[in-house]
Amino acid sequence: MIFDLHMHSRASDGTLAPAEVVKLAAACGVDVMALTDHDATDGVAEARAEAGQLGVGFVAGVEVSVTWNGRLLHIIGLGIDERHPDLQQGLAGLREARRARAFKMAEKLERSGIPDALARVGEYANGPVISRTHFARFLVDAGYVATPEQAFRRYLRRGKRAYVPMQWAPLEQAIGWINGAGGTAVIAHPLRYGLGPQRLRAMVADFKACGGEAIEVIGSGHDPSEYQRLARLANEFGLLASCGSDFHDPAGRVLPGRYPALPDDCVTIHERVHASLAAAARGVAQHTSRPAA
Ligand code: AMP
Ligand code: MN
Ligand code: MN
Ligand code: MN
Repeated sequence: MIFDLHMHSRASDGTLAPAEVVKLAAACGVDVMALTDHDATDGVAEARAEAGQLGVGFVAGVEVSVTWNGRLLHIIGLGIDERHPDLQQGLAGLREARRARAFKMAEKLERSGIPDALARVGEYANGPVISRTHFARFLVDAGYVATPEQAFRRYLRRGKRAYVPMQWAPLEQAIGWINGAGGTAVIAHPLRYGLGPQRLRAMVADFKACGGEAIEVIGSGHDPSEYQRLARLANEFGLLASCGSDFHDPAGRVLPGRYPALPDDCVTIHERVHASLAAAARGVAQHTSRPAA
């Protein structure tokens, strides 16, 4: 069975509608998927309905922006009840901070001789979340840079002209929202934060102490030669091993589910995901069998 537990739609910085993400995942042979948009669950209902049509296993997800020791981390919630009020209130606060950041980023670009960024970026961000990815697409299409990577290198990365420092959710709070909504917290792409071995272990230890339960062993930006190392890290801290493509765009480098199986010596997140699939199915059954009032 192929699991892909990390994917984006237009509800954040992906380019496909939620149903289109599910169709592509199915076409790529994915059996079980999670939609994990940044700081939003607006795509979940549409994706879940499409997955039901296509016979793809589906769990609701989210990728929460976190600040830990002054650094950005991404913490995924899998198998969440996306209606949970504390989770939704927390995510709404992050989206509001994103809107305020976009305004400041546009001002900075204006001062660098790039006018109208806010209005133009609005054409790309047609969901609830406004992301640096949308700024990158605008900068490419308007001819200021050749590629999104160049947009990040020249304008959007920490210390660059349009960068605005952010205070995202504290780690403990983000994990609290996820666990409170019945989900499992997962460290996304642990090797993409530029942490040395010691700080990486400190981060994983804090994550575990706050109630986090899983870590991506196969994740975006991980070289296959690093899977074994991450499997050992997962085992050492008693974390479940997860896997996901971090799919954003069919024109990009990654497609859903296109990676090897998790290493044999991992305790995979698969059982946990099956349990939340079963719970969701029971929820639907209860819901549909309830007599009309
Ligand atoms: P934000 O959450 O709005 O700060 O934007 C971060 C998003 O930008 C990530 O989720 C990635 O999808 C994307 N991103 C980060 N770095 C790069 C890069 N160097 N090139 C292209 N996209 C990137
Ligand atoms: Mn993204
Ligand atoms: Mn991420
Ligand atoms: Mn992601």
